[in-house]
Amino acid sequence: MTIEAQIKAAIREIPDFPKPGILFKDITTVFQDAALCNRISDEFVLRLKDTKIDAIAAIESRGFMFGFHLALMLGVPFIPIRKLGKLPSKTIQFAYNLEYGTSTIEMHKDAIKSGMNILIHDDLLATGGTATASAELVKMLNGKVTGFAFIVELEGLGGIGKIKAYTENIISLVNYN
Ligand code: AMP
Repeated sequence: MTIEAQIKAAIREIPDFPKPGILFKDITTVFQDAALCNRISDEFVLRLKDTKIDAIAAIESRGFMFGFHLALMLGVPFIPIRKLGKLPSKTIQFAYNLEYGTSTIEMHKDAIKSGMNILIHDDLLATGGTATASAELVKMLNGKVTGFAFIVELEGLGGIGKIKAYTENIISLVNYN
């Protein structure tokens, strides 16, 4: 089975969560399959083999799962991007719109040194607001967005149009219209 078909078969779809009209792609059911999780990480590593990565920045909380694993596999630092008020040291912040609401995310001020190549990872790309906000945080610290890696892309929401302003190196393992 292709990796796309295997991931699609593992994702659980929850209608009207967290708001009416949203078809939530629940990847906790992917986490139950260790072999599939290894396949996903291996696939990311393969597709990123030509990308220069000094650190991986991933978004709370579902981005942490594969983001951290990927950082370990590539032997690079992991940078958590979190919702407002969760990080303990000095932070920079960016406010943005979600597919279902608004949010502010933060990163530690000392997480990136000027010129570092940062791969941004999240589980899913929808409108692109979260990924754009993450890229803005990277830029605020003079980092370079070297790529984006998602498990799922909801193509119909057009997120890619927003984020390709930062880099055209965008990976998604699964696409939905
Ligand atoms: P966006 O900022 O619109 O690209 O939304 C992406 C963020 O919201 C990611 O962190 C996703 O985990 C979450 N998200 C948005 N829409 C969905 C969806 N339909 N199913 C699962 N997660 C979603």
